[in-house]
Amino acid sequence: MTGTKPQHAPQIYFPVVDDVLHVGGIPLPRLAQRVGRTPFYAIDRALCSARVASLRAILPPQVALHYSIKANPMPALVQHMAGLVDGLDVASGSELKIALDTGIDPARISFAGPAKLEGELTQAIAAGACLNIESQHELDNAARIGDLLGIAPRVALRINPEFELKSSGMRMGGGAKPFGIDAEQAPDVLRQAAALGVDFEGFHIYSGSQSLRLDAIIESQSRSIELAIQLAGESPLAVRQLNIGGGLGIPYFPGEQRLDPAPMGAHLAAWLPRLAEALPQARLALEMGRYLVGEAGVYVARVIDRKVSRGQVFLVLDGGMHHHLAASGNLGQVIRKNYPVAIGNRMNAQNDAPDSGPASATGPLCTPLDILAERMELAHARVGDLVVVFQSGAYGASASPAGFLGHPAALEVLV
Ligand SMILES: *Cc1c(COP(=O)(O)O)cnc(C)c1O
Repeated sequence: MTGTKPQHAPQIYFPVVDDVLHVGGIPLPRLAQRVGRTPFYAIDRALCSARVASLRAILPPQVALHYSIKANPMPALVQHMAGLVDGLDVASGSELKIALDTGIDPARISFAGPAKLEGELTQAIAAGACLNIESQHELDNAARIGDLLGIAPRVALRINPEFELKSSGMRMGGGAKPFGIDAEQAPDVLRQAAALGVDFEGFHIYSGSQSLRLDAIIESQSRSIELAIQLAGESPLAVRQLNIGGGLGIPYFPGEQRLDPAPMGAHLAAWLPRLAEALPQARLALEMGRYLVGEAGVYVARVIDRKVSRGQVFLVLDGGMHHHLAASGNLGQVIRKNYPVAIGNRMNAQNDAPDSGPASATGPLCTPLDILAERMELAHARVGDLVVVFQSGAYGASASPAGFLGHPAALEVLV
């Protein structure tokens, strides 16, 4: 196979000039020089801003937009996002610290997660962040710590709905789950919350993630809003915030299409009058991570060796699954599929070498799991070339087993 182009490169946003990928307006080899060493992640701040702006443009202005830090907690990126969104959602004490360090009003931080520690609850209550309460026990703990601190803790109840986001890559609601309070238990917990005197914010209903089907997202949003209205009818406390999650996915694999979220904006706009009537004090919020930053980032590793084994080309890289578990296929994939990958300094080069054909890009770890591209049509790469994994702005470094085999961590830059 000769004369091939990088696989599903049309899905990417980064421009190519004279065969060279540009990230943040900088030719990739020059960016690699500036960063100082490979491997690294680079997140393009302008692309993050553009994504938020395009979502704002289709959402009614009354709908708040939150960034879920766990998608990418790089402090420079969180700082950038803090200036663009209405709230930051954190999932640990250290993410809470990153959020607080941005200087954002703590009232705009919420903290979800099923095993909040005593110290984390204390830290969040003292800071004035909102706790997304995952169980009756956690509510009791929050109230007790609030008493000690002399602060009424701000709490929202995270509800585990009976439904789940269909066709989502990761299901977080529906059925028996460790996350949230089952919807049928919520009325009891609401009465408890009233008795405990906590500062009640409202509901957090999160039913899934990484869906590329807008109809499914819209349906789960409707069901979340209906559920919130129903629960509010049984609540002695007024609902001031209704966070219905996000679920918007990004295209990773061949054949997947980027979402057009415009119908979701119209759909939420249609809900607003009914919400204003049923929950007059409630602000509707969406929270998401990967949709806001996932397409804005690349992971870049260098070709250390190029070898042919029984007719197959292997590009052996200085980076791999210890930095990018998701691209290696080991973060929840059932059947391994290739992320979009290209040779960043030979984007359109003809693959005309004698040993041309599909190439695999593998990492430095001594395991066959350490693979970033499996038999892909790539430009003919040489030692020293830069292999780029696209769609890498979310669930990258922080979602990878960085300590495995003791290689250096990936650098991370915001450009
Ligand atoms: C992980 C998570 C998110 C973000 O999911 P994305 O797919 O990155 O948008 C949002 N809310 C909650 C509660 C989460 O656990």
